[in-house]
Amino acid sequence: MRRTLIAGNWKMNASLSGNAKLLGGIKAGLAGVRDGCDLLVCAPAPYLAQCQAELHGSGMLWGAQTVSEHESGAYTGDVAAAMLLDFGCSHVIVGHSERRTYHGESNAVVAKKALRALKAGLTPIVCVGETLAERQDNRTDAVVGGQLDAVLQVLEEDALPRLVVAYEPLWAIGTGITATPRMAQNVHDMLRAKIAARSADAAPQVKILYGGSMKPDNAGQLLAMPDIDGGLIGGASLKVEDFLAIAQAA
Ligand code: PEP
Repeated sequence: MRRTLIAGNWKMNASLSGNAKLLGGIKAGLAGVRDGCDLLVCAPAPYLAQCQAELHGSGMLWGAQTVSEHESGAYTGDVAAAMLLDFGCSHVIVGHSERRTYHGESNAVVAKKALRALKAGLTPIVCVGETLAERQDNRTDAVVGGQLDAVLQVLEEDALPRLVVAYEPLWAIGTGITATPRMAQNVHDMLRAKIAARSADAAPQVKILYGGSMKPDNAGQLLAMPDIDGGLIGGASLKVEDFLAIAQAA
């Protein structure tokens, strides 16, 4: 049985005082949601120490938004998996479309990052998704499947159950337009079949999240789909009530 994961991606939105309010509010509302699902916030790297201080012992998880594919060394500005572990991170987002688009992260780099995270003991949340043009061209399965294949190729079979995948259609991220539950389920089903082709044992264990304008009013229907195991939430994760309401819908 896969436990639901509701993960917030703060992106580059944070401040010490704002985070304290947000995390305090979420913690205050945890009692109603904690048994049903895991709650995670992925913060910008400078605030991971604050997350550790605020969330340690709360039952909530915290993580980062990217990680270096390298173990250590002369990579100015990059953050290593071991550093994220030092600050108590459990998860790290890998290959978010904004990293792929603005930082040129290729499928091969994303795969190396996922591998590095798993080797260090972090759970990578590997993001995949198609553009609107690709969907209109009927290339969704090829594009999204190819992004996942690149990762599946480099991972050892015994690491696969720890992988988390997030299907995030680019046309739905930050736009207020959400994939319908059926559209998302079709892609999730295709992704799980790909994992099953690699490892029948791992496929039922891998969480596949949906991301892209998930909000309190659409979360329930999306999360009711059999292969949607949680959400990766951008905008709505910055509002206490919305984040908690999505978790309650789960
Ligand atoms: C995201 O950035 O991962 C995301 C899903 O953003 P939003 O919820 O704002 O669409």
